[in-house]
Amino acid sequence: MTLIDGKQTSAEIKAEIAQEVKQMTSAGKRAPHLAAVLVGHDGGSETYVAHKIKSCEEVGFKSSLIRFEDDATEQQILDTVAKLNNDPDVDGFIVQLPLPKHIDEQKIIEAISPKKDVDGFHPVNLGRLVAGLDTFVSATPSGIVDLIKRYKIETSGKHCVIIGRSNIVGRPLSILMSQKGIDATVTVCHSRTENLKEIARTADILVAALGRPGFVTADMVKEGAAVIDVGTTRVPCADTKSGFRLKGDVDFETVSPKCSYITPVPGGVGPMTICSLLKNTLKAAKQR
Ligand code: NAP
Repeated sequence: MTLIDGKQTSAEIKAEIAQEVKQMTSAGKRAPHLAAVLVGHDGGSETYVAHKIKSCEEVGFKSSLIRFEDDATEQQILDTVAKLNNDPDVDGFIVQLPLPKHIDEQKIIEAISPKKDVDGFHPVNLGRLVAGLDTFVSATPSGIVDLIKRYKIETSGKHCVIIGRSNIVGRPLSILMSQKGIDATVTVCHSRTENLKEIARTADILVAALGRPGFVTADMVKEGAAVIDVGTTRVPCADTKSGFRLKGDVDFETVSPKCSYITPVPGGVGPMTICSLLKNTLKAAKQR
């Protein structure tokens, strides 16, 4: 069994990005600029945004953080999005999700210029992905594909089963995995899927992206399968300072002995997600 090291792989990719930024700036161009909009004080969102800002510093990007309190209005966020869309100094930006309930997330996503939508959530970018056109692929699916490629996991003709059909993970990943060049045969499962266990057991590559800690157990995994665990649920933990730890959707202890490859949580898919965001921002900067 090979443990897929997302931290190491993301460090390699970050070093490659930093090299490109150096070349850009020494050629007289300005460094790419990523902006992040954070509404409220959700613990998870605070951590993710802090990581994104830190990663920008590591690769030599400029970054800015625009903060709002929980009671910010939808109009305030829409105005900020419009400002960022028109700011020539900003190459790409994200609005950290989830947003407070009184703000319509889809409305905000659709207000972002597709050219600056480095999260790849805008319907135009999702549509371009479906059509096989150049686009900003959303960060988590793109990071998963990078891991699969860098670890040289065979995909052509293989059966990839994805548990979860969200617009940010399962759905775009299913499109990427079935694209020419990757060539997997893909099955997407969700909460209404019948015989999920039996289907999962036929996977050469099994991706768990449902947000149910420990859902995938050894009896759902074929001997020698590659298992990608996207889940990151905070569970209470007395041994950590924060009082919680991240738990994946895969029961690592029982599943890992059966796998050819497996991603840990944390340290697997998570670090790759930020890398993909950086890659998209670099791409946006180059396109402008
Ligand atoms: P989501 O929007 O809640 O979608 C979950 C999907 O799982 C839905 O399609 C749902 O089916 C399906 N599902 C839920 N319970 C199921 C069950 N018992 N059996 C089969 N399918 C089931 O979640 P998400 O945003 O895609 O995130 C999924 C997980 O990945 C979460 O733990 C999240 O924190 C994590 N995540 C991690 C990263 C990272 O960087 N590591 C990035 C993004 C997300 P229905 O469609 O039928 O409801």
